Amino acid sequence: MTDKRALALSAVAKLGAAPLGHFYGGVSVPGEGTPFDVLEPGTGGVIGQACDASEAQVNAAVAAAHDAFPAWSATPATERRKILNRVADLIEARADEIAAVECLDAGQCWRFMSKAAIRGAENFRFFADRAPSAADGQALPTADHVNFTTRKAIGPVAVITPWNTPFMLSTWKIAPALAAGCTVVHKPAEWSPYSARLLIEIAHEAGLPAGVFNAVNGLGETTGKRLTEHKDIKAIAFVGESSTGSAIMRQGSETLKRVHFELGGKNPVIVFDDADFESALDAVVFMIYSLNGQRCTSSSRVLIQRNIYDRFIARLTERVNNLKVGDPFDPATEVGPLVHPRHFAKVASFADIAQQGGARIAAGGAPVEGTSGFFYKPTLFADATQSMRIAQEEIFGPVLTAIAFDDEADAIRQANDVEYGLAGYVWTNDLGRSLRVSEALDVGMVWVNSENVRHLPTPFGGVKSSGIGRDGGDWSFDFYMETKNIALARGTHSVPRMGA
Ligand code: NAD
Repeated sequence: MTDKRALALSAVAKLGAAPLGHFYGGVSVPGEGTPFDVLEPGTGGVIGQACDASEAQVNAAVAAAHDAFPAWSATPATERRKILNRVADLIEARADEIAAVECLDAGQCWRFMSKAAIRGAENFRFFADRAPSAADGQALPTADHVNFTTRKAIGPVAVITPWNTPFMLSTWKIAPALAAGCTVVHKPAEWSPYSARLLIEIAHEAGLPAGVFNAVNGLGETTGKRLTEHKDIKAIAFVGESSTGSAIMRQGSETLKRVHFELGGKNPVIVFDDADFESALDAVVFMIYSLNGQRCTSSSRVLIQRNIYDRFIARLTERVNNLKVGDPFDPATEVGPLVHPRHFAKVASFADIAQQGGARIAAGGAPVEGTSGFFYKPTLFADATQSMRIAQEEIFGPVLTAIAFDDEADAIRQANDVEYGLAGYVWTNDLGRSLRVSEALDVGMVWVNSENVRHLPTPFGGVKSSGIGRDGGDWSFDFYMETKNIALARGTHSVPRMGA
């Protein structure tokens, strides 16, 4: 056994007697509901069990958040800043352990997870430092009134996260919510529950008061549903599939929940013939095969200008066949296993779909043999067209669909011809074209001559079926806070008189 896997198993063992329960009101609470298995994608074995929260437990977690809200939202922002910076310090101190746990239950590769844990700390630090200015508003004076706006934390919020990079994504939502003065009930994904428990334990060790941050484990259709329907939850920050986003919107509609959705994607990377060929190739490979292709911003469609198509596909095929697939704990591994047999079956089903649709399997297209883990070969579907299912549907695995285009207009048309609109990537050395194409793409984010490089002050989010709302910078606070306008008369205007 590698040292890193031993570290992960010992971190999970330290979380207490199985099955994994919940954490609310500042204490660990044993599970009452039905237990379910948590698998190790790298081996196919069972790591342990976690419990679906009972209805009473969801209510108790929300009650804890509700009771803690008045004091936490009134806590001086400088104090919130201090505590959240301490959370960041402790995440950094335990970054190896967190990364190892992500490799264990999410099957993500060490080479990426060691950085993701540090990014979790950065998320806390970034929003901690902005807590003192979160309530700031605008002055909007008129001749007769001084208007000023201010912001207040919205209340207890639900944060529901997926399994692909569970720790980093959770911190991305939870850190701004806490910095804004909200209290939180988190429901992590059932397939990868362990790093969320590490996070909540770290937060309490850092001095977060009881009830401010709570977590319940469980399935989406039971625990998640109860949470999103609860009348005392004021907003839902959700990251996951588009269809789940629709369900959550329905569930939250009765109680008029504010929602923030980060959903699926089928993101195009457009490679023009004047692009820096080698850099574009590096970016195309990195953006779909890193994180085992289980990445919302992955460039899962590569659109290549027809006159460089064959050369690009030849080089791409070489690179895909050369990717090092294996043990997620091995720092040399580039592609690890898929998270779960159910997800594996979905990803694997696309090889037949590709062939039936008329595409060519240029690389992969089959499970890795001789392993009990959920390993799928890095796959390249070439010679596809935009109408095929492999060009329309989010596969969410190490699977890339390649399509040729003729000119700028054709590239834009094909890029936009999907129901999703999260990110787009443009490779060209023509400055004017880079601007025209960036502006024409129906997406929330565009990177020109770059892979996805996240800068926290910038807005992150999608359009169409890829989401509602933006994360990052002040956009996060706008979601977790209510804006109020106060109009103060200067005493210069006359109030209309009626019935006088
Ligand atoms: P999922 O929608 O199946 O599950 C996400 C979370 O929602 C889980 O915690 C799940 O238990 C919960 N859930 C499921 N049904 C629910 C319901 N009815 N009510 C309340 N909660 C419910 O998504 P997944 O398979 O875990 O994650 C993969 C998806 O996430 C992909 O589509 C990917 O693109 C997306 N994603 C998007 C972003 C982004 O920033 N846009 C980032 C990461 C992942």
